[in-house]
Amino acid sequence: MRFTDSHCHLDFEPLYEQLTTLLTECAKQNVMRILVPAIGQQNWQKVLQVKKLGSQVNIDIALGMHPWFLKGVNDDTYQQLDAIVEQNHTSLSAIGECGIDGTIAEQHDNMAAQITAFNHQLALAKSYDLPVIVHHRKSHQQVTSLLKQAQLSKGGIVHAFSGSYQQAKAYLDMGFKLGIGGTITYERAKKTINTVSKLPLDAMVLETDAPAMPLNGFQGEPNSPLMIPRVFETLCQLRSESPELLAKHLEDNYSAIFGD
Ligand SMILES: [Zn+2]
Repeated sequence: MRFTDSHCHLDFEPLYEQLTTLLTECAKQNVMRILVPAIGQQNWQKVLQVKKLGSQVNIDIALGMHPWFLKGVNDDTYQQLDAIVEQNHTSLSAIGECGIDGTIAEQHDNMAAQITAFNHQLALAKSYDLPVIVHHRKSHQQVTSLLKQAQLSKGGIVHAFSGSYQQAKAYLDMGFKLGIGGTITYERAKKTINTVSKLPLDAMVLETDAPAMPLNGFQGEPNSPLMIPRVFETLCQLRSESPELLAKHLEDNYSAIFGD
C-alpha cells in the first residue's frame, strides 16, 4: 500500500528544518506523494523551492491565497499571483489554498474581500485548467455556490472536509474529492464521522494539514505527514472495505484529479 498526503505545509516549521529526514521517513512509511499548498505571497517562493526538494517522495504544489491571510492584499498582489502562476503553471498541480472562512469573516468583517479573492483564484484555475484546493469553515453554502458558478473543468479537493452527507454530495456532484484528515480521530466529530462512513469509495483522499490539526492523542504536538498511516487506520475502522481496496481507491482518487 502507498499513500498520498493531499494537504501538508512542508514549508512551515518544524517540518521545513527537517525536510530531508522527514521525506526519507515518509518514503519508509509509504507516504510517497505530498501536496504542498501556498497560503499567500509570503510563501509562494518557498513552496516553489520545496517542489525541487522532492526525491523519493513526489511533491505536488499549489499557489494561491488562503482566506486567513488577505490583509494587505490589493490589485498589485493579484497581478503578482497571476504572474507567478503564468511563469510556473507547468510546475503547478493546483491553485490554492483558497476558499471562504465564515468564522474569520465574522471576526474581521471581510466576507466581500474573501469572495473577491476566491473568485479571482477560481478564474485563474479555470484559465490554466488546474484543480483548486479549497478551504472551508462555516461556509458550505457560499463555497458550493461560488464553485457552481465557476464551472471548473478539473474540480479539486475540499480540504479538511467536515459536514453532512448532503454537504459532501454537493461537492462530489461538481467533481470534487473530500480531504479526510485528523478530524475523524475525534469522537466529538460525530456528524463528519457518520458522513465519512457512508461516502462513495471514489469520494475521498487522505490529508494531514501538518503541522496543523494534530490527531486525537497528539494535541499540542506539531502534526506530520508521517501521521497519514494513522488517519488511514482510523478510516479503515469506519469503513467496511478491506484496507487494500480502500488504499487503492484513495490513490486513484488523488490521481483522478492531479494525474499520475
Ligand atoms: Zn492548509
